Amino acid sequence: MRTPIRAVTPESSTAEIAGWVHEIRDLGGLVFLLIRDRTGIIQVTIPKKKASPLVLEAVREVSRESVVRVTGTVKAIEKAPGGRELVPESIEIISQSASPMPLDVVEKVPAELDTRLDSRFLDARRPRVAAVFQIRSTVIRAVSEFLHARGFINITTPKVVAAATEGGTELFPIAYFDREAFLNQSPQLYKQMLMAAGFEKVFEIGPIFRAEEHNTTKHLNEATSIDVEVSFADHLEVMALLEELVIHCYSTVAESCSDQLAQMEISGFEVPKAPFPRLPYAKAIEIAAAKSGEKIAYGDDIGTVAEKAIGEEMGSHYFIVDWPTLIKPYYAMPSEADPKVSNAFDLMHPRMELASGSQRIHQHNLLVHQIRSKGLSAESFEFYLTPFRYGMPPHSGWGLGAERLVMTMLGLQNIREAVLFPRDRHRLVP
Ligand code: ATP
Ligand code: MG
Repeated sequence: MRTPIRAVTPESSTAEIAGWVHEIRDLGGLVFLLIRDRTGIIQVTIPKKKASPLVLEAVREVSRESVVRVTGTVKAIEKAPGGRELVPESIEIISQSASPMPLDVVEKVPAELDTRLDSRFLDARRPRVAAVFQIRSTVIRAVSEFLHARGFINITTPKVVAAATEGGTELFPIAYFDREAFLNQSPQLYKQMLMAAGFEKVFEIGPIFRAEEHNTTKHLNEATSIDVEVSFADHLEVMALLEELVIHCYSTVAESCSDQLAQMEISGFEVPKAPFPRLPYAKAIEIAAAKSGEKIAYGDDIGTVAEKAIGEEMGSHYFIVDWPTLIKPYYAMPSEADPKVSNAFDLMHPRMELASGSQRIHQHNLLVHQIRSKGLSAESFEFYLTPFRYGMPPHSGWGLGAERLVMTMLGLQNIREAVLFPRDRHRLVP
């Protein structure tokens, strides 16, 4: 029976391990093989004079990153990783690795991101890279547990759709038999329809597709959205939920991923504190003008430069609230006090936007009016609009980018580092 490498302790007498040959060090009379599995690294020590001919032959033949199985006796030794080493009785080469490799797993020379992504399977053998995806998995689990515990149900909505969510140009057209179809840019319309179905609290963690032309460090063409919709709740309630969820994700990672954080050399991992400041849009563009010199006219979007300047000023997570109705999607509810402002918000990390949300319009007439005023045709939204005529509760929700959450949490420079196989303007393989 194979033992995970971490479970081999100085107290173990014998062990059988299996994993990849991380390093081979030939010191003349002694050869060290470092063997790695996903739990850790162990030193296998081969004294040339005492080792069996079969063991010596395997050591001569084996190349780095080959998969091997080793059985032997465990000895306590202070200098080796984990305070123990394995002296082999047998070494079986299960799968020999070709060399040279397209990417150096031990990373004496740091590789460019593109090279890493081309050979992601090798890149992900590096404990520091694997740690990102173990943490990402923990974040997704934390989200799911948090929402289930609050009575949400997990939904799955179609990714092949007939109409754009927001009518934008960011759509990938696809061939769907003899009809035109698109990859969905957001589950927005479907989660709203499920409010009409009486589900009240839904969430989805799934892919969104955006045909953004630009190549940036924070945009993907296929991203993962954590989407939430809640009936009988206003925007303030779902903002509080979002704030609590983000903090919960950080706390869960702090509690259960200390090894991975150490692997990534992240010290002093900080859990953000509630409440996140609420910054009105009008104040945000003032800060942007004062700090970056970028003048944003009221009603214009906040660009990357302005976003950075405001983030520096705020210093931690914050919300931008009181958005002009004009720049928010048609489904955002205009404020009763001043309809030029909508009950919409963005959750911001100092580096970038993490989530957008709002109270939604639940009145059929108003929704049709807003769709038309954005220059869209209400007819192409018939399937979405019909549910609003048969009993639609008031509701609110948001969409949170999973990659951006992980990227900002771990201080990754490029969003592509938070995705196993990123899709961008130039990358469709692997
Ligand atoms: P941005 O202005 O930063 O491009 P957005 O306002 O267009 O984002 P939304 O439509 O509000 O994005 O989507 C909700 C969330 O989904 C965003 O806040 C972000 O976290 C994530 N998201 C949206 N588009 C992308 C993308 N192309 N790549 C990665 N994440 C994305
Ligand atoms: Mg947004």
